[in-house]
Amino acid sequence: MELNRQRTEKQLQQTIIMVETLLRMPRVPQAELLALASWMEGLGKDTLFKGLADQVKREKPAWEQTEPSISQEVVKILLQPIVDQLSERSRANRIRKELIVTITRRFLENVKWKKSLEQARYMSRFFGSIEDVLAISHDVAIDAVIIDQTCIEESPALLKELMKQMESSFVPVIVVGPNRPEIRQASYEAGADDYWDESVKNEERHVRLARLLRKLRVVSSTILVDELTGAYNRKYLQSAFDRRIARLEQEHRTFGMAIFDLDHFKRINDLHGHPTGDLVLTELATLVQQAVRLDDEFIRFGGEEFMLLFSAETISHAVANMDKVRERVERHIFANGLKVTVSIGLSYSASHTTLAQMTAEADEALYQAKRKGRNRVVAFSETMSIAKVPVYIRGDRQFLDEMRTRTMSEHPKYEFEIISLEDERTAQLQLAILSLDQIAEDDFQQLEQWKQQRDSAIDVLIVTNEENDCLAEALSRGATDYVLSQHEIEEWVSEWMMQIP
Ligand code: GH3
Ligand code: MG
Ligand code: MG
Repeated sequence: MELNRQRTEKQLQQTIIMVETLLRMPRVPQAELLALASWMEGLGKDTLFKGLADQVKREKPAWEQTEPSISQEVVKILLQPIVDQLSERSRANRIRKELIVTITRRFLENVKWKKSLEQARYMSRFFGSIEDVLAISHDVAIDAVIIDQTCIEESPALLKELMKQMESSFVPVIVVGPNRPEIRQASYEAGADDYWDESVKNEERHVRLARLLRKLRVVSSTILVDELTGAYNRKYLQSAFDRRIARLEQEHRTFGMAIFDLDHFKRINDLHGHPTGDLVLTELATLVQQAVRLDDEFIRFGGEEFMLLFSAETISHAVANMDKVRERVERHIFANGLKVTVSIGLSYSASHTTLAQMTAEADEALYQAKRKGRNRVVAFSETMSIAKVPVYIRGDRQFLDEMRTRTMSEHPKYEFEIISLEDERTAQLQLAILSLDQIAEDDFQQLEQWKQQRDSAIDVLIVTNEENDCLAEALSRGATDYVLSQHEIEEWVSEWMMQIP
């Protein structure tokens, strides 16, 4: 069963890569498209791919009608139903665009570059300083950083931190600067993976970027241990879970899944700095691993969230075990004399469950533990319903109407709600969609205010019809991104939804 699943996974991955490749080509030969169709039809023998194969059968007549060489725009339309199918089939393998972060103060000069990134189907974000990137880098998965040499000079200490963070997850960092050997050398010494001087044109930049990203993909698919904490990383989770389920079915060995989340961890970062926060995470991982059995599996689940898969004969044993771990953390004195507590959400194995189901249950239990006052263990019970986390999308009415016409995608974790700009409710995650004029109206005050907000992350999408200095100003003050027409909002938002952790 395990082998079968692995094969299916692999075939799905291959299909996604094939589709992605076609979507990146400026022109696609019709033969390539038809070859993809035959491959997908072939997969249909496996019942798991039947839906996909049926979809291909429906689309194929249209593909056969095309010209011998098809433009990128048309390919995008033709493949959309397939992309939807693939995304539906496996949420974990959704076609997520890679996120390229550019740190620059020269927004307008970089507009062409940004467009070419988007054309190549990357997601692109601009930031005005290293500091702004560090503020989000723990919460968003970045795939590459491109940084203007002038932004480095002013903050060598921050650069060091950025480099360390990126290196630990193998994310390539590229420096853009003048064609001067001493600066180039200094950049490499500081840890840059590549250096682009003005002689490197956009076409070549793309080749070099793609090469670095390919390496990143290979490396990150083989590494199963988290660099910072020594715990397993998330890629290890599915196979560990499958093994547990197999043993449950064959030997009736029951197990628990616990999600650990540090209490008020933001405060630790705010008061003592990120490096101390990192030390606490490392120490916590060591501490928990010492407190559990050798064959229990400890996984870094997210930034400051960990998961433990552990054997337990009954649910009350499971709760008692986790409470011991919780107590041990509470008693421990961490780096710099800090005291830290954890909340733990627990779910207990039943046969025929899935990883997604069990995770959702543990997550809900964790949420209850937080609500009940933190520093406690809560086990999931049937009386809890799994509540989704609200995410608000707010903005000007004319833009929202655009949004209302589309059905918000079913997300396993989040519930999206469209609300008006004046609505006073807040959620941990929000998106505001505003015109450039609206943002500039109060001299960017609102933007500054949102950026300062601590307990809620607000992304801001600007709608504008011109790339001018005012837009550059808004981006440098922390606006997330912009679109040049109202009709692009919808696509941008669905991409944004996929990037949410
Ligand atoms: P709560 O008790 O509700 O969990 O409060 P909290 O402050 O811990 O809130 P939340 O879990 O939402 O915040 C997690 C914070 O952890 C935000 C993020 O910046 C920080 N963080 C995530 N990953 C890392 C990391 O690798 N290192 C450090 N130092 N901080 C991280
Ligand atoms: Mg958390
Ligand atoms: Mg927390």
